Amino acid sequence: MAFSGFDLHPDLLKGIDEMGFEKPTPIQKEAVPEALKGRDILGSAQTGSGKTVAFALPALHRILSGNRESGARVLVLTPTRELAAQIEDTFKQCCQFTKLRCLLVIGGESMGRQISEMHSTKGLDVVIATPGRLLDHLRNTRGFDLKGVETVVLDEADRMLDMGFLPDVSRILERLPRNHQTLMFSATIPPEIENLVSRFLKDPLRIEIDPPRKPAEGVIQKIYPVTQVQKYGLLHALLDRAEVRSSLVFTSTKKRADIVAGSLRTKDIPAAVIHSDLSQSKRKESLESFRDQKVEILVATDIAARGLDIRHVSHVFNFDVPLYAEDYLHRIGRTARAFTVGDAITLMGPDERPPMESIERYLKMTIERCALDGFDYDVPPRLSASKKSSASSRFRLPRRSSRRGKKGFF
Ligand code: AMP
Repeated sequence: MAFSGFDLHPDLLKGIDEMGFEKPTPIQKEAVPEALKGRDILGSAQTGSGKTVAFALPALHRILSGNRESGARVLVLTPTRELAAQIEDTFKQCCQFTKLRCLLVIGGESMGRQISEMHSTKGLDVVIATPGRLLDHLRNTRGFDLKGVETVVLDEADRMLDMGFLPDVSRILERLPRNHQTLMFSATIPPEIENLVSRFLKDPLRIEIDPPRKPAEGVIQKIYPVTQVQKYGLLHALLDRAEVRSSLVFTSTKKRADIVAGSLRTKDIPAAVIHSDLSQSKRKESLESFRDQKVEILVATDIAARGLDIRHVSHVFNFDVPLYAEDYLHRIGRTARAFTVGDAITLMGPDERPPMESIERYLKMTIERCALDGFDYDVPPRLSASKKSSASSRFRLPRRSSRRGKKGFF
């Protein structure tokens, strides 16, 4: 089927056409017609599935087909500033042939500028926000409210839970008019999210696309066993190979991201870094320089693991094995975007064997162990996956829902 099969406002169809999309992705096929009927949706779909367009189209259609009133009619809540900026970009493209206006309300940027945009005489139709800053405005900015909101989108709800945003999200939802439609997307549905669903969604249609246990087909995964000390040298050597172009290097903590980027720079390998301790302007600058290919390497915490859509990433390196299989999937999903291929390479220290084997069990696959020819290993790497080591059989993946609950982890 084509997009023209949806009962969408012609200006939105023109926008989609201009974006070059020929046919809807599976989540769009399932969600758009039901959302157009006004139904609440609970979608579990991976990033990269096209879910942003799946919620943007019905939300924008509803504004265009209603009476033009003042005040925001669509509210999108998302966990990170980078995702918010990416969503804003998609909304703007979808509504490029309309007069609708979108406003980004995120932390780290001037409140004053956001306030003047809120009060602009040109009006305001869509607010795309991270929860903390939005709540600041709702409490402190005179004349700004969400009384006109008709559609609310909760994007990456489970990530908002992980980052400790759920209380803020609930406070925001409590301030909305009763009769709004809610479109919620969450890769996993832990009990806290189920609770949010039962409090705020009305008989939602549940849509599950691609259970998130499967990496994209084009991702070639490899594990390089190495001691923790030699990880830096091995990363330099791997990055030095000709086929390695744009690379994302994930670390488990912000401090480690800084150390890894610093170690690359001492080897004259320019690297940008992104994590939540950096100012918003620095985060933006790092992301843009990587997106524009001014630097080939971006060292990141899991803040960049979800949703970021950068086509030219040829390699993802896990400098540390992530503790959660879902994080592993999100990280490696940053390469092989849009049906291309890419490499996902994990540097596995001896202490990281149990969590890595847990991830393999979760994915139901054994990932090839490799050694880099010519690299001077202090300890010869073990290249076979243990069938059942006592350590790994004891290791259990922690439950995501019980983790963190603290802002600024990334
Ligand atoms: P998302 O899951 O929203 O992050 O979307 C991932 C990528 O898919 C983005 O680069 C979108 O521009 C792209 N995309 C969304 N819908 C379509 C479509 N119908 N056909 C082709 N690409 C799409």
